[in-house]
Amino acid sequence: MSYVDEVLELVKQKNASEPEFLQAVTEVLNSLRPVVEANEELYRKNAILERITEPDRQIMFRVPWVDDKGQVQVNRGFRVQFNNAIGPYKGGLRLHPSVNLGIIKFLGFEQIFKNSLTSLPIGGGKGGSDFDPKGKSDREIMAFCQSFMTELSKYIGADVDVPAGDIGTGAREIGFMFGQYKKIKGTFEGVLTGKGLTYGGSLARTEATGYGLLYLTEELIKCHGESMQGKTVVVSGAGNVAIYATQKAQQMGAKVVTCSDSTGWIYDPEGIDVALLKEVKEVKRARLTEYAAARPSAEYHEGNASERAGNGVWQIKCDIALPCATQNELLLEDAKQLVANGCKCVCEGANMPTTIDATEYLQENGVWFVGGKAANAGGVATSALEMSQNSERLSWSFEEVDAKLKGIMVNIYHNIDDAAKRYGMEGNYVAGANIAGFEKVVNAMLAQGVC
Ligand code: NDP
Repeated sequence: MSYVDEVLELVKQKNASEPEFLQAVTEVLNSLRPVVEANEELYRKNAILERITEPDRQIMFRVPWVDDKGQVQVNRGFRVQFNNAIGPYKGGLRLHPSVNLGIIKFLGFEQIFKNSLTSLPIGGGKGGSDFDPKGKSDREIMAFCQSFMTELSKYIGADVDVPAGDIGTGAREIGFMFGQYKKIKGTFEGVLTGKGLTYGGSLARTEATGYGLLYLTEELIKCHGESMQGKTVVVSGAGNVAIYATQKAQQMGAKVVTCSDSTGWIYDPEGIDVALLKEVKEVKRARLTEYAAARPSAEYHEGNASERAGNGVWQIKCDIALPCATQNELLLEDAKQLVANGCKCVCEGANMPTTIDATEYLQENGVWFVGGKAANAGGVATSALEMSQNSERLSWSFEEVDAKLKGIMVNIYHNIDDAAKRYGMEGNYVAGANIAGFEKVVNAMLAQGVC
């Protein structure tokens, strides 16, 4: 049995009740087969695959807090510190009722490779809780965040583990957690990223994931002899990633003609009006029907991406498709439609928006496909830039952060392209991303001995 298959078997035995984690490990290790085969003796002797699939530690704890009725509530908190071979653990805190250990392990494992790809010194980790912030008052959110941080503070630190936001953890939650950490430890340090601008946050973090997606996409198509100028782009989502992806694509001279939210989608052949979209989604927090009502050129269609009707954005003829909403929103039939319409490039702004069969179909049909691990790494890269600014006790200008972000994303594209070519898989940017991220971490692990 090959080394990869042996370790996959072992991981399945040890983590049988964690399907998401098993899926992630299977996907990553399968794509690493050529690298592992080329270095099998060295990796086997050093148990590299056994070590990289076993977290350094996983912390689970009770989070008691009092709701507005005076009732004590109890949630479960998690922090999985997966691998710190190249830097302090880094990864978001997800607050969502679906959170469990397997999901946090899957996200922490993926984070190792994404963080490595940024070329910045950050290891992989992830955390969160099954707490649901929806419908809670500000006081309840604060009570939860303070209790959560009271325990988490024992395990994190600016040089140890630096959590960030994720689903359910935005600026408000980061603020409450940061305040509690400071109170408990008595130190003002960059222990969390995604902070407000008045207390150590970074300019351009808001724009980073969407802008970064476009910097990588532009480099990819430039290397294939094309430019963004005049390209028709379809984008899904109307949140943070989608809005800033749309803005940057238009600054580059492309025309973005769609967006979507959890109730419907827009086709606007004149090009999405970003100022209006921001007004509707960021300021009014309203539905896209309001966009359509204010924009005569826009057509509104009911349905979200989890239902078949919602995948309308992928029916629109385009050169480039950027899924930026949610997981599993681009299915095989959508991939077929994109190919039939002549789409040349799909880059993922969201995490796992494209199903595996859709990804394979796109790749088999010559579409340049870059997965989220590489294409949406601009968010975590800019979080690492926030850490650098905190360490220096300086705040960089928007232009400085943006220029660094662009350099990082261009570099990511070339690294994943080179890695795929080195192993005879030219154009397979999914494998290239896993390989490039893996190689750096493994080299550090080998250099640091058995630990
Ligand atoms: P937001 O919550 O800001 O936006 C998500 C958008 O997607 C919203 O407009 C939401 O609609 C829409 N949406 C949700 N579910 C559906 C659905 N089923 N069909 C159609 N639209 C839907 O999230 P972000 O933009 O921050 O994140 C989007 C994705 O990018 C996620 O996968 C996230 O994990 C990933 N990501 C985000 C990063 C970041 O820095 N923000 C970094 C890396 C990855 P509605 O407006 O109705 O809620």
